[in-house]
Amino acid sequence: MLLEIHEPGQTPIHHAQDIAIGIDLGTTNSLVAFVAEDGAVQVLNDEDGGTLLPSVVAYAADGAVQVGRVAVRHPQAIHSVKRLMGRGIADVKTLGEALPYALAEEKSAGMAMLEVDGRRISPVEISAEILKALKARAAAAFGHDVTQAVITVPAYFDDAARQATKDAAQLAGLEVLRLVNEPTAAALAYGLDNASEGLYAVYDLGGGTFDISLLKMEKGVFRVLSAGGDAQLGGDDFDHMLAELMLKKAGYSEELSAAQAGMLLQQARNVKEQLTDKDEVLTSVPLIGEFIITRNEFENAIKPLVNKTIKAFNQVLVDAEIEPEDVKGVVMVGGSTRVPIVQQMVAAFIGKQPLNNLNPDEVVAQGAAIQASALAGGSNDTLLLDVTPLSLGVETYGGLMEVIIPRNSAIPCSVAQEFTTQADNQTGMQVHIVQGEREMVDLCRSLARFELKGIPPMPAGKAVIAVTFTIDADGLLTVSAMEKTTAIIQEITVKPSYGLAPEAMERMLMESMEHAQEDITRRLLAESRIEAEQGVAAVRRALEVDGALISSDYCDRIEAQIASLLQASEGEDRDAIDLSAAALNELCAEFAEARMNKALGVALQGSSVQEVEQRLAAIEAKKASQN
Ligand code: ADP
Ligand code: MG
Repeated sequence: MLLEIHEPGQTPIHHAQDIAIGIDLGTTNSLVAFVAEDGAVQVLNDEDGGTLLPSVVAYAADGAVQVGRVAVRHPQAIHSVKRLMGRGIADVKTLGEALPYALAEEKSAGMAMLEVDGRRISPVEISAEILKALKARAAAAFGHDVTQAVITVPAYFDDAARQATKDAAQLAGLEVLRLVNEPTAAALAYGLDNASEGLYAVYDLGGGTFDISLLKMEKGVFRVLSAGGDAQLGGDDFDHMLAELMLKKAGYSEELSAAQAGMLLQQARNVKEQLTDKDEVLTSVPLIGEFIITRNEFENAIKPLVNKTIKAFNQVLVDAEIEPEDVKGVVMVGGSTRVPIVQQMVAAFIGKQPLNNLNPDEVVAQGAAIQASALAGGSNDTLLLDVTPLSLGVETYGGLMEVIIPRNSAIPCSVAQEFTTQADNQTGMQVHIVQGEREMVDLCRSLARFELKGIPPMPAGKAVIAVTFTIDADGLLTVSAMEKTTAIIQEITVKPSYGLAPEAMERMLMESMEHAQEDITRRLLAESRIEAEQGVAAVRRALEVDGALISSDYCDRIEAQIASLLQASEGEDRDAIDLSAAALNELCAEFAEARMNKALGVALQGSSVQEVEQRLAAIEAKKASQN
């Protein structure tokens, strides 16, 4: 064994080649951490000694890419690209003015793209630049390249946003060992996986977003019970409030130029951060003036915003039917939780001191590092359980959504459901994968379609098609369909080109509740239509085979009733369809009897008396059981 010699006070960083890093890819700031050989979690610094890498990217005139603090100074710096991950242009329209750059749509992919100097750049590429910078930071610290990482994502990230994050990692030359939900990572950093069982909340107030999640720790496994928050609320809003306060104090009422406004906001942020440790700050803003801002003034200005977070917190508890006292601990995450009044209001709401002894900027990266180390070391003892945010299912006959994996199911999971063919000799089946909470497919989000081909010709209802939905530990969905008698199989990894914005997700959930009654009505209507259609098909089949058994006049009456049922089916009146279907049924009773007699006659030929009696008894019994 070789002896290692170090300078006093210098601890060498890990030498193993298979070291895996944990990355917090944040909206405002990103970080990278790892677990050292002695088991300690270390968050890596940049050359200036800071751990935060501003999630800002700029493209210099010479084509060079700038990331972090250097990019912030660039006039066309790109901020908050995380908000665009896996989103279509329609999804981000709601962000509107909030985005400081122009957006375009990539027609083929449906993905929102950024327009920078006439060039189109995807959010995935921009995120990849941030990841590359973090990867380089780790490589510099270790003295060798790093290729494996655990990356954290918000709990509400849907399939598309998760996939986009993985794509960004791939572009950056990183293999993603796992995507972990941010609140789960924070809980890991606090060692809650070793704590007693119970309910924990993770309160994450960052630069531009507020996320609140409820985690349940049970038998050594975490489960995100529910999540909520506000995608447009964070420390940036505190800056705005404070900037307004500063203008008011200075008695300044003139219009600000864009440059002035930017400078004022920067100043406000600075003052805000100082007020975390000081009771008052003396500040001077060029052209506007010099004045003192007290913590008290600042707190009064932002109280309504903090109140909004407490309301959202309460809502998540109400949804999960949990009382604030039942929460065992609240983990504080995100730079904005440093603000004292935030700490106080959370403590008052929950009736206990929040967990805040770890650096709130770093806890998510720390948890990611712990998970990375466990996964790279082959140990899987920290099994993380997350839930899927919206129900996943397929379209069935009549445009109905058949849920296969209900929302809030723990992942990873795999669920199979059997379907059959609707028509005789049907050789293909469309599998349309949808996500959402509504009963009708057209009100849910379409994720993907594929066709299972080569089903052998069989009567309707005979083929058995098993459709399996599998969500892996990263929350990504794979769907396969198999015809069981022939073992013909088709599979698709669902990779939608754009995803759901948290607001859209929220809206879909809200709508499902608001429209529950309407949905039920629509479902019942669709079911009545299906029944009517099947009834008509059955009568027509019977007429084809046995039409000769009845008079042409009777046959015409049946045809007329079929026509009126089909017409009713086109309408929206379920009762009319049901009544018309019942009338057809009644009208056909005589025809059914004629067919029964014929069947009896065929069956009775050449049988002994005893056999005939037995068969008659069996037929009577069957008739009785059908009535
Ligand atoms: P994100 O998760 O969105 O990437 P962070 O968790 O890094 O964001 O939080 C960034 C926010 O935290 C910024 O608004 C920043 O001003 C705020 N912040 C950082 N340090 C302090 C502090 N000492 N006092 C108050 N706010 C702070
Ligand atoms: Mg964060």
